[in-house]
Amino acid sequence: MNAEPDGPQDRLRRFVTIWSRAVFPVTTTSSTRPEFEEQLLPLARRLSRALRARAFDADEGRAVGAALVEAHCTDPEALSRTLDCVDAYLVLYCGGDADHEDQRARCARLQHAMAAGFAQALRARTLAEQEAIARAALQAQGVVAQALHTTEARFRAVFEGAAIGIGIADLSGNVLQVNGALLRMFGLSEHGMRGRNVREWTHPDDAPQTWRLYDELVRGEREHYHLEKAFYRPDGTVLWTNLTVSLLRDADGDPQYQLALMEDTTERRLLNLRLRYEATHDALTGLPNRSFFFERLEKALNAGEGQRFGLCYLDLDGFKTVNDSLGHAAGDRLLVEVADRLQACATAPGEMVARLGGDEFVALTTGPDTPRKVDELAGRIMNALLAPIRVDGRELTVRGSIGIVEGPAGERSPAEVLRSADITMYRAKSAGGNRFELADPEADARAITRHGLTTALPTALDRGEFFIEYQPLVHLGDGSVRGAEALVRWLHPQHGVLGPDRFISLAEHTGLIVPLGRWVLEQSVRQAREWRLLHGGDEAGPLRINVNLSPCQLTHPGLVQDTVEILERAGVEPDALCLEVTESALIGADDDLLKPLRRLAEMGVDIALDDFGTGYSNLANLRRLPVSVLKLDRSFTQSMQQFPADPVDLKIVEGIVSLAHSLDLAVTVEGVETGAQAEQLRILGCDTAQGWYYARPGPPERLHELALVDATG
Ligand code: C2E
Ligand code: MG
Ligand code: MG
Repeated sequence: MNAEPDGPQDRLRRFVTIWSRAVFPVTTTSSTRPEFEEQLLPLARRLSRALRARAFDADEGRAVGAALVEAHCTDPEALSRTLDCVDAYLVLYCGGDADHEDQRARCARLQHAMAAGFAQALRARTLAEQEAIARAALQAQGVVAQALHTTEARFRAVFEGAAIGIGIADLSGNVLQVNGALLRMFGLSEHGMRGRNVREWTHPDDAPQTWRLYDELVRGEREHYHLEKAFYRPDGTVLWTNLTVSLLRDADGDPQYQLALMEDTTERRLLNLRLRYEATHDALTGLPNRSFFFERLEKALNAGEGQRFGLCYLDLDGFKTVNDSLGHAAGDRLLVEVADRLQACATAPGEMVARLGGDEFVALTTGPDTPRKVDELAGRIMNALLAPIRVDGRELTVRGSIGIVEGPAGERSPAEVLRSADITMYRAKSAGGNRFELADPEADARAITRHGLTTALPTALDRGEFFIEYQPLVHLGDGSVRGAEALVRWLHPQHGVLGPDRFISLAEHTGLIVPLGRWVLEQSVRQAREWRLLHGGDEAGPLRINVNLSPCQLTHPGLVQDTVEILERAGVEPDALCLEVTESALIGADDDLLKPLRRLAEMGVDIALDDFGTGYSNLANLRRLPVSVLKLDRSFTQSMQQFPADPVDLKIVEGIVSLAHSLDLAVTVEGVETGAQAEQLRILGCDTAQGWYYARPGPPERLHELALVDATG
């Protein structure tokens, strides 16, 4: 094989190839072998130069050793194979013609230097790597810590910023941590909360299960509980909360802490209490109102055996006058003062005062001894009202009427008791007021029918349940029928025929008297016209009709107008009508009240003073009144029943008759039941009589029968 001798470059290349083949398998480089070989080429060149340089430089060897590490030949095997390769081939391929021995020595020194450089570089690299790892680890740690910190901060923010109070305590109840909201709720500083124990926070309003639930939780027998709980604040005020307590367990599931979440409900509670107060108290006087009183009365009536109740139902006398004359503001002030005084009357346990509305108040007493207690209570109330009340610089005298109901619990409903009290109070009022009366079942029953009638009355007129009976008025001189008094009756669907004494005052009370009175007037005037058609030509003059007027009708503005229209429509002359007005309605009447009567009298309508002698009116007063007839009350007639009659009574009647005649008044007597009475009254000078002796009130036909008999007889 006759080969051309190689140039130094080819020889160097060959060395590199051998070197790379030896080392490549033990490197950790990502390069390919040819690439790796290219990396080794400059190193081989440096070795070759160092081998042949005039002066030996060990640094070159160290640099190549270090470069090996750089080229990822960090495995000790890589160094070992490199040194083998250098030892066997460097001088051979790169030595040239120089002294062989010298080169061999240099090669050995180069190998030492390379090994040293390699070791040094490797250590540096390892250190660098460790450092990088440490740095990376440190950095990683920092990131984790940061993340933790963020979570913690977020949690803190929630804890601190929460509107609800949050607190953590250990299982012995020692408070460990609380948030600002909780401190604010309790009105405590962080310092004040330190060292506190949950168990200190008992409150008299604690629900019975409160501390049992707590014990179960700290024993690990329950995970949470929820309840409403009150706490005392250091300033003595009360904090109400909606409290939720949860058990916190550790990673092993063992109970570790308790966590309390609380919502401040104090204001809501106060608002509820306030709403409840407003719903149960009277705004003006601050007294319990009707619904509160009903609650309490119901409780009293449901009390057990042996328990009783006593109730005073008070209505002020004439309160409306105060309101009307001094105004509502003054009326209100009066009520407030009355309320205060009443309140002071019922301060014992089991007693209460309430305002039912308007000027109506109630006082309640309960217990086993109410018959005595309720009497005393009523006495105290009457006493309390004795002193005048100063309102707007005026001293007002306040009087009241009280209805008392007393009885055992368990028999009646609140509504029944109150109705009985109301009825009894009215009885006290009708008896003149300023007194108390005791409920009486019989009076109640009467009043209850009265109550029933009141409710049926308004529709009775529309249903045509009223009718009129006529009682003749007879001339005492000749016994002729001169007319009749119209007396209204109510044919009640259940109670049958009811007399006016049963319903006239009710009708006055309800205002129905005005339409009812108008109806009676209309009917009677129409009846008078019929009689006139039948008996028009009698010498004694046409039959006249007497119609009763209530005081309410007198003050009604339509009286004159209505009367005129009714007469005109029926075509009846005013002088055929006599309106009867009771003496009591005209006592003390002023000119305004008399004006309509005067107008009617001027037109020719007769006005009779009914029931004369019962009202003790001043006889001299009669001159002022536009009356033309006196109707002597039945009581005078009654006193003449026995024979011989009381001479004093006779004298009185005689005196009245002569006075009446001197004033140009005719005298009619009522209630004539016997011929003897009639004769006596005739002798005394009475003009006309009315009574059962002649006829009881009856249907209109009866009257013209009588009148006919009379006319023909
Ligand atoms: P008054 O106007 O004094 O009527 C006379 C009353 O005496 C009537 O009672 C009559 O039935 C009764 N009476 C008549 N003769 C006798 C007798 O001989 N003996 C006895 N013991 N009583 C006799 P009545 O019908 O019950 O009426 C009572 C009162 O009712 C009337 O008293 C009158 O004030 C009132 N009244 C009757 N009808 C009306 C009416 O339409 N409007 C108004 N506002 N009041 C009326
Ligand atoms: Mg009458
Ligand atoms: Mg009368």
